[in-house]
Amino acid sequence: MATWVDLKSQGMKRFGEVGAWAFDEWKMLNQNFFYGENKPGAIIWGKTPQGKSLGYYHVSKNLIYLDKNLMRPIYPINDLNWGIQHLNKRIASDVLLHEMIHQRVNQTGGWEGETSHNNERFVDEVNRIAGLLGMDIRAKVIKQATIQGKRIRHNEPGYLTLKELSDFPYSSRTYNYYYGRP
Ligand SMILES: [Zn+2]
Repeated sequence: MATWVDLKSQGMKRFGEVGAWAFDEWKMLNQNFFYGENKPGAIIWGKTPQGKSLGYYHVSKNLIYLDKNLMRPIYPINDLNWGIQHLNKRIASDVLLHEMIHQRVNQTGGWEGETSHNNERFVDEVNRIAGLLGMDIRAKVIKQATIQGKRIRHNEPGYLTLKELSDFPYSSRTYNYYYGRP
């Protein structure tokens, strides 16, 4: 298995500063949230396979994709180059954290349930990490029920919706956390 040092140097060769940043951030998040236990894999800056989320975790390859739109210039006043200077590091770090939850779940036995988000393992991780982040939120597997012949999801009040669960932790941050003055 490739070491973190090897993977980081490959990431730097391929993606430069954002490549190095992603590996340093991954290491910090691994220590702070996953007891240093996640096993490192490649982190690729590109288009996510599904194209609609900012990150993606490839289970069998242990590979994290980060969307290169995260480093796109938003106000191209004097710098049209894509790169780390345009990276909102708080957003990118949360995208990485989300993918690392999938990484942990898959490296510690996987999940059973409706989706990779709506299952006991992912939900337990969300509750644990929300606690570490000091977020006052709770998650629970969202059950489906048949009511008058229709399958509907029963979202208990006070718990994350399926969308919020799937977008954790960004769904639970304030606008100011990402876009406020530092
Ligand atoms: Zn996800």
